[in-house]
Amino acid sequence: MSKKKLSLATYIFIGLLIGIVLGFLMKQLPSGTFRDTILVGGIIKFIGNGFINLIKMIVVPLVFCSLSYAVCDMSDFKKLGRISFKTITFYLATTALAVTIATILGLVLKPGAGLDLSQLIQGDYDISNSKPIVDMLLEILPTNPIKAMAEGNLLQIIVFALFFGVSVALIGEKGKILVNILDALNECVLKIVTMVMYVAPIGVCALIANTVYSVGLESLVSVAKMIGVVAIGMLIHSFVVYSGLLKVFTGLPVRKFLKEYSTVATVTFTTSSSNASLPVSMEAMEKLGVDKSVYSFTLPLGATINMDGTAIMQGVAAVFIAQVYGMDMSIQMILSVILTAVLASIGTAGAPGVGMITLAMVLESAGLPVDGIALIIGFDRILDMMRTTVNVMGDCVCSVIVADSEKELDREKYINC
Ligand code: ASP
Repeated sequence: MSKKKLSLATYIFIGLLIGIVLGFLMKQLPSGTFRDTILVGGIIKFIGNGFINLIKMIVVPLVFCSLSYAVCDMSDFKKLGRISFKTITFYLATTALAVTIATILGLVLKPGAGLDLSQLIQGDYDISNSKPIVDMLLEILPTNPIKAMAEGNLLQIIVFALFFGVSVALIGEKGKILVNILDALNECVLKIVTMVMYVAPIGVCALIANTVYSVGLESLVSVAKMIGVVAIGMLIHSFVVYSGLLKVFTGLPVRKFLKEYSTVATVTFTTSSSNASLPVSMEAMEKLGVDKSVYSFTLPLGATINMDGTAIMQGVAAVFIAQVYGMDMSIQMILSVILTAVLASIGTAGAPGVGMITLAMVLESAGLPVDGIALIIGFDRILDMMRTTVNVMGDCVCSVIVADSEKELDREKYINC
């Protein structure tokens, strides 16, 4: 499975390289019907925009299915009361903090400054008429969920999915059939994601060719800067936020945790999947003295709903895309990015590449051009390796803290490991 993914990632990277060369070559061609109408305005446009359309196509079903399924699945743990409350609070609070740090870093370090892609904007992205906060909040509540889906209004879809998931859980036995259907739909949507990703190499090739043709190489320098800002955000989150929380709540040496987590990190790095890393993260928790009753709950839940690394990538990416498209981000847009990235984190399945798809939802809800994903997607494997490592680290830190607070941590074992 991971082998297949790796080779797809390689193909995407090759597509990216070919696209860069193609963009240069297209620049050298004399202007005329062949270059302008057939190549750039025809073939390249069809492949590039077709790929973006396919990505957009999956967003609504993906968000609805994975979010409502995550919520109704979570209900199994309801009886765990206190533990689930602590765990969910930890997951949501740290994700909100992660995307806030990322957004601030993006605004301060400006990775997109110096690159101007505003001429490439397709579609309507009018941010001039920002609304009062109360109207913005009211618009989150759907009056008609079907209309919300048809229009791709993601915040409204999220609200409806949350209601739906909770209700499925609350009706108990009768809801079982819906849980199974949502489970199957979820798998089905993830299959579509896999299929769409198979055309990613040529999609990425066309999109980057168009960018290099229109703007030149500075676009790639900016993406490298963006990846650097994402890395800084992840380092701060791992070594300041997570390590700080671990120290403050347990008083235990962080060093021991990091030593044990380094083994898990090699797996998160190579698989880019929170789900696939579960067996090793469980083993690490065992070695650190966390009781099975705690980690068997906190880790699978975390792999489903806790994606701080993904939120960091999405926060920086949103600000980056706004900058390269010459858009000033209003407070409402920033709040919208933070809110949607937290919800997207719940809706992102712990599998490779999913965070890039839910980025489309974060961008759309903030009124930013989804086309901006084209700049980043060719480098997603690198971003995915980093963000999955942070995602799983959050799950593990939470497990230790919750276990300690419940007196389910063998502190001797932790110290001597
Ligand atoms: N690969 C990530 C994970 O499994 C999800 C993502 O694509 O952001 O945690």
